[in-house]
Formats: sequence, structure tokens, C-alpha cells
Amino acid sequence: MKVSFLDLKRQYAEIQEEVEEKAIEVLRSGSYVMGSYVKEFEEQMAEYLGVKHVVTVANGTEALVIALKAAGVVPGDEVITTTFTFFATAEAIATIGAIPVFVDIEDDSFNIDPKNIEEKITDKTKAIMIVHIFGKCADMDEINKIAKKANLKVIEDAAQAIGAEYKGRKAGTLGDLACFSFYPTKNLGCAGDGGMITTNDDDLYKICSAYKNHGAGKIGSEARELLTNKKEEIKEQEGQTELYDPYKYYNYLIGHNSRLDAIQAAILSIKLRKLDTYNANREKIAKRYVEEFSKNNIRTSTPDPIGINCWHQFAVRTDKKEEMIKFLTESGIGCSNFYPVPLHLQKAFDYLKYEEGSLPVAEKLCSETVCLPIFPELTDEEVDAVIAKVIEFQGEK
Ligand SMILES: *Cc1c(COP(=O)(O)O)cnc(C)c1O
Repeated sequence: MKVSFLDLKRQYAEIQEEVEEKAIEVLRSGSYVMGSYVKEFEEQMAEYLGVKHVVTVANGTEALVIALKAAGVVPGDEVITTTFTFFATAEAIATIGAIPVFVDIEDDSFNIDPKNIEEKITDKTKAIMIVHIFGKCADMDEINKIAKKANLKVIEDAAQAIGAEYKGRKAGTLGDLACFSFYPTKNLGCAGDGGMITTNDDDLYKICSAYKNHGAGKIGSEARELLTNKKEEIKEQEGQTELYDPYKYYNYLIGHNSRLDAIQAAILSIKLRKLDTYNANREKIAKRYVEEFSKNNIRTSTPDPIGINCWHQFAVRTDKKEEMIKFLTESGIGCSNFYPVPLHLQKAFDYLKYEEGSLPVAEKLCSETVCLPIFPELTDEEVDAVIAKVIEFQGEK
């Protein structure tokens, strides 16, 4: 039996009618960027997460860049982050001229190890960017405690963690700012690129909203006031005239063009209603994997004892990674190599001069981890087939 690592067509087929009807409605509305569909989605999402503000943006990487700028990170600042993550986490830090400072991870959770954070804090450190990797929340109480003591902002890269929980609170509400991606392969994916920033802080909300849209308009002037601590002298005149509107084509900050399309927001509204079901299906598959693999002494991703893992990925560990990927692929079982190289050893970061062996847990896990299919529409037979092949490999080696 052939099993795909991920088959997005199945989910689409289930919601095709509703999505296509809505997409046509948006196309006929003539309103394509931001607007009412986006506003509606932002409100639904704020309610789902239990967060005060949602700022949709063009993609998850932009969410990270804008959140870092809103957190006050400027060129030359250091930002502490995990080395076991998707490249964009640290790329965003480097993009704004700041320095990613990589920290090793916990052996069992794949998440940043809070025990390794404090020793990396210097007087240049401005923020900690944590990642809830594979859908399991990082140890936020410890991380927030360290950040508070050192007066650092905490940014969650929650791109893989929509719907995950930590002690009863959802990922995206656990730091100062959080960033999500709606890339099609994420737990909540749109039909292209999309992302968002969440925060409970009114000022950070205004600043992110201004940055995402060229620092323009009233929100731009308000954000500028917050960032400069100076009241703006904006000539309101006798109200607006046709030729003078102090907020139209007046820009107050150097920002970005990073907005969500209406058609993506409309699709995301439909899928958000189903997200808990999608994540529950992932959980069911994960439970079967954990049960069967633990009986065979195969180490895997684990459920979260204090929260809810949303199972973006399911990892098994093997000291014969290459052989396992080859065996599964030849047996028709889709699998994926997350992540082959920890970020501190990526070519793009060679200027930071990390050496092999400097972050040993992450390096070891990169050499051991293979991710298995775990999308919500997998059938029981397919899950059985994956389990059988992994156990067969384990028995043969
Ligand atoms: C997907 C992902 C991103 C980037 O999101 P895009 O929408 O692809 O830009 C960032 N961080 C992590 C951990 C991710 O998994």
C-alpha cells in the first residue's frame, strides 16, 4: 500500500463546495486585499485563541519579521532562539540585521531547553524567540520567568502550533507576541501564503498593524507616537477635504507590504471551524503510533503531559536514519527529513562561526529524526501500513 506523506487534495475534496462558493463570492465582491472578509477572520481567530488582537499578514516569515521589529529589535541586537527549527525562524532575525543566538534543545521534546538560555543572555540581548516545534508547546513558564528577569520580550514562533495548548492556554497567547503561518502544509492552511501575529498588548497591536501596511494612515501615526514617545502634530484642519486627508497617502513609519488576501481569509474562516476536528484526527493517529512504536522500543514524539500537542509532525528516532528513509520510500510510505541540519550549522549562518558539536542534542536529533504521515484524512488502513513498515524496518536492522 502506498501512503502519501501529505495529501492536501483530500481535505480540499471535503470542503470543496463551500470553499468554491465562497471564493466566487469574494471574486465577485471586488474587494481583494484586507477588507471585511479579513476583518471577520481576524475576529473569529481572536475568539478561537482567546487573544485580544490578531493582525493578519502575508506569510509566517513576515509575521516573524514584523513581530521582531514591534518588539523593538534593531540591527546589532541579539535574539535568542532554538537551532532545531525551520530556517525562517532565524532568517527573520538576520533579515532585520539582528544576530540569532542559537540554543540547544531538550532531548525528549525537541524544544528549546530553558536551562541553556540564561548563559546566552548578554547586554545586547533584546528578545527570546521560541518555537513550539512539531506542535508541542515549549516550557513557557520557565522561559517567561527568565525573560522577565532579564527584561526581554518573548516571541512565539507558533507556525506549527495552531490549536496547541500549554496549561489550558492556547499557543499564541503565551508570550508578548506570537507568529503563525497559513502555508498550505500547516495544521490550518490556506490556498497560498498567509500568516498572522497575535498579541494581548494594545500598543504592540498598533505597531504591527502599522508595519504591515507601509506605516500608513491613522494607525501609522498612532504607532509612530508610541515608538517615538512624541505626540504627532497632524493638521486635522476643519475635517477632511477632498484634497487633504492627513491619513491618506501619508506615511509615518518605514513598513512593509504584508497583507492577507480576502480570498485566503474567506477560506481560512471555513477551515477554522474544522480545525479542532482536524487536530483531533491528528491526535488519534499520534496515539496509535505512540502505542505501537513504544511496544517495539522505537522512540517517538510524545504527547504533552501538561498541555495539548497539535501534532503538526510526528517524529520517530533511529540511529539508521538514511536507511530508514530509503526503506520507507521504497516501501511506498511517505516520510520526511525534518530537519537534516540544525540552523547553527546551515551554510547561510556560517558567518556566525558555530562549530560542529557546539549544540550536541540538536545535532544528534537531526541525525536521528524521521517524520511520518500524520495528516487528518489518513485512513486507519494507511496508519496500519505505516506502523507495519516502521516496525519491519526496526526488526530487520
Ligand atoms: C512554516 C514555518 C515558518 C514560516 O512560515 P511561512 O508562512 O512559510 O513564511 C516559520 N517558522 C516555522 C517554525 C515554520 O514551521
